[in-house]
Amino acid sequence: MKKRIAILGSTGSIGTQALQVIEKHPEHFELKIISAFNNAGLLIEQALKFKPEAVIITNKDKFTQVASFLSCLTTKVFTGAEALNDCNVFANVDIILVAIVGFAGLLPTINAIKAGKTIALANKETLVVAGELITSLAKKNNVTIFPVDSEHSAIYQCLAGEQGNPVEKIYLTASGGPFRDKQIEFLETVTKKQALQHPNWNMGNKITIDSATLMNKGLEAIEAHWLFNLSPEQIKIIIHPQSVIHSIVQFEDGSMKAQMSIPDMRLPIQYAMSFPKRMKSDYPRFSFIKYPNLTFEFPDIKKFPNLALSFEALRKGGNMPCILNAANEIAVEAFLNDRISFNRMSEIIEKTMNIVTFINNPDFNDYMNSDYESRMIAKNLL
Ligand code: NAD
Ligand code: MG
Repeated sequence: MKKRIAILGSTGSIGTQALQVIEKHPEHFELKIISAFNNAGLLIEQALKFKPEAVIITNKDKFTQVASFLSCLTTKVFTGAEALNDCNVFANVDIILVAIVGFAGLLPTINAIKAGKTIALANKETLVVAGELITSLAKKNNVTIFPVDSEHSAIYQCLAGEQGNPVEKIYLTASGGPFRDKQIEFLETVTKKQALQHPNWNMGNKITIDSATLMNKGLEAIEAHWLFNLSPEQIKIIIHPQSVIHSIVQFEDGSMKAQMSIPDMRLPIQYAMSFPKRMKSDYPRFSFIKYPNLTFEFPDIKKFPNLALSFEALRKGGNMPCILNAANEIAVEAFLNDRISFNRMSEIIEKTMNIVTFINNPDFNDYMNSDYESRMIAKNLL
């Protein structure tokens, strides 16, 4: 039977690659729903091509445009963030791929889990902000969360068939971003253009900046903590500039399993949607001869303080990762708008973490309030 898919954020980097996967495997997948925030043009193009059951354009100003272009189809058009959370809209869907960026992915993920849908989760911010709530809700509703993030997909793949074998530690690999071999002084003058040039991956702007500051790896450590039930001490970060080894699991007998491939997000996307099956692909294969050197180094925490801040938030728990995430979203946006320098981003995050009210056992409303409070404080600090 075909898996019926909804893609939240179909116009983004992950969303468009997920559509490529679906297009290649019509025998396995049926695209039911796509959504976008603002990019009406691309959403319309996608709808005309795939003829899904429904499309959601979150920005209400774009509704008329989308609805009129799609009036020739039977596709239903919804608008507003509420539509992303309406379980009636998703009634005929098996898997929801959450490829929205940032905190905005949280509520749709919660509602998808409550509706009992299988989750393919690209939106790491959801687990960073409310990992405890999300994982316990998934358990309660018997819902599986398949990671789309390449490192977490790697770990998931390494753990397949290892039920009952405790993990000693994991190594999350990081490319190190575009400034890996630059001096600390160089970061003072880094421009947006330089920071947006990622060496190995072509991604949305927010995650590309997060990769340059290594915040991405910090968020991924928190994500791994919740997905695989690991303590902060069991999660190690290792810089691997070639991005061929996507992550490593070390078991209690000392054996290590790594998952490798040429970097291509379509692979973890399709694995999350096709599990337990592996589907044939024509993506370029890794060659040991072309890559004679796979190298590894420790991250420089002094140069990239976001990594230390993330582990601090992870150890502290409660709403601290939520505060870290909100302050980071504001700082990254300000950097992308040329309002602050590269290094200032970490300062704003650290200060926000020191100011916002700490809550030890937050519930959903606490997360919403902490996110709001953190954004206000971070904005004031700008
Ligand atoms: P992107 O910016 O390219 O796309 C974001 C998508 O989300 C777009 O379709 C946009 O319309 C939608 N969106 C944005 N704001 C929204 C809002 N407020 N409400 C509803 N929809 C909204 O981002 P991306 O690079 O595809 O990343 C998406 C998520 O996947 C992020 O959480 C990122 O960390 C994660 N991720 C991405 C990659 C990658 O290679 N791009 C890899 C690993 C994880
Ligand atoms: Mg990743």
